[in-house]
Amino acid sequence: MRNILISGAGVAGGTLAWFLARAGWAVTVVERAPGPRTGGQAIDVRGAALDVVDRMGLGERMRAVRTRMRGMSMVDGAGQELFRSEERTFSSGRLDSDDFELLRDDVVAILHEATDAEYVFGDSITALTEEAHGVRVEFEHGGTRTFDLVIGADGLHSAVRRLTFGPEERFVRHLGQYLAIFPAPNFLGLEDWQVWFRHEETGGVAYPVRDNTELRVTLGFGSEPLPRLTVPEQKRLIADSRQASFEWELEPGRKCGRLGHRFSLGAGRRTAEPPAPDAADSRRPRNRRPRRRGMERRAATVRAQSSRLRHSDSGCRARHPRRPRRSRRRTTGGRTPL
Ligand SMILES: Cc1cc2nc3c(=O)[nH]c(=O)nc-3n(C[C@H](O)[C@H](O)[C@H](O)COP(=O)(O)OP(=O)(O)OC[C@H]3O[C@@H](n4cnc5c(N)ncnc54)[C@H](O)[C@@H]3O)c2cc1C
Repeated sequence: MRNILISGAGVAGGTLAWFLARAGWAVTVVERAPGPRTGGQAIDVRGAALDVVDRMGLGERMRAVRTRMRGMSMVDGAGQELFRSEERTFSSGRLDSDDFELLRDDVVAILHEATDAEYVFGDSITALTEEAHGVRVEFEHGGTRTFDLVIGADGLHSAVRRLTFGPEERFVRHLGQYLAIFPAPNFLGLEDWQVWFRHEETGGVAYPVRDNTELRVTLGFGSEPLPRLTVPEQKRLIADSRQASFEWELEPGRKCGRLGHRFSLGAGRRTAEPPAPDAADSRRPRNRRPRRRGMERRAATVRAQSSRLRHSDSGCRARHPRRPRRSRRRTTGGRTPL
């Protein structure tokens, strides 16, 4: 039987693995994450994709976990509503169509469960050599194996593309925007309702998922290309970006090493404590507010601070003074505010 290696257990990798396994290939999928990845945005299933998931026999399972929005609002940097619709949302389109939307986590988990393939989690390809009878693949942790074919489905910063065609700078075109997506408790009390927000070069969206128990928040900002940062560094960069429409603050009164960030929609009118905190974050003196400056300089600062923190063996020492609590004003009042 011919064997094939797919790098990346995302949407493309999982779907391809399903079809190739059905066609009789021995499929191996290598994914650098320790398991099927969680987090991320909702994915639309529309047009040809509807036929594909139904022909795979996965349509029913996917529809069972679809998002169910009643509508959306757009607010400005001051939290004022600019637009609302109960007919469509920006993320999923018309609400009365047959299209549906589900979280990327769910797509990936369903594909993984449904596919008869060997999944290797927590590993990555480090070298590819084309030989007469196949491709010799070296793995970061899993030694060397030979496959008839190797496919790169490992996303924007594909390792397969880099190893095969060269540095990604030759292929990736910066579009001037960065997005950060993370889960948060449903601090807005949103019920099947999306809130989009926009202020100058920044903006984003928050919407409830998982029976309104959780929010998925996206924050976006325009910037020149930034250096590649580690995940903790990326979080620090966002946390330090005190821009009007997504101001972040360290939450007062939480235990050292478990500090969250408070997230404000529209100039600080709504607050909460989203993403996974990092121990490193907690060591930042609380009331040191970075001056406004370019994201690039900020990224360099974050990198330098992180490097110092990595070389420090100190525990969490910073004491974070309590700040006056801000009122939780809603845009238009009421539990579902919009
Ligand atoms: C911010 C954002 C918002 C989006 N919003 C929407 C939306 O609202 N609606 C919609 O329909 N679509 C949306 N999309 C698009 C959708 O998420 C993507 O099209 C889809 O996830 C791409 O699938 P993929 O399989 O190519 O890559 P990915 O889903 O990125 O999967 C790549 C996989 O490869 C793994 N990987 C990476 N490097 C390696 C390596 N070296 N070795 C092994 N594994 C590796 C990754 O961990 C990941 O699991 C959005 C995308 C982004 C980035």
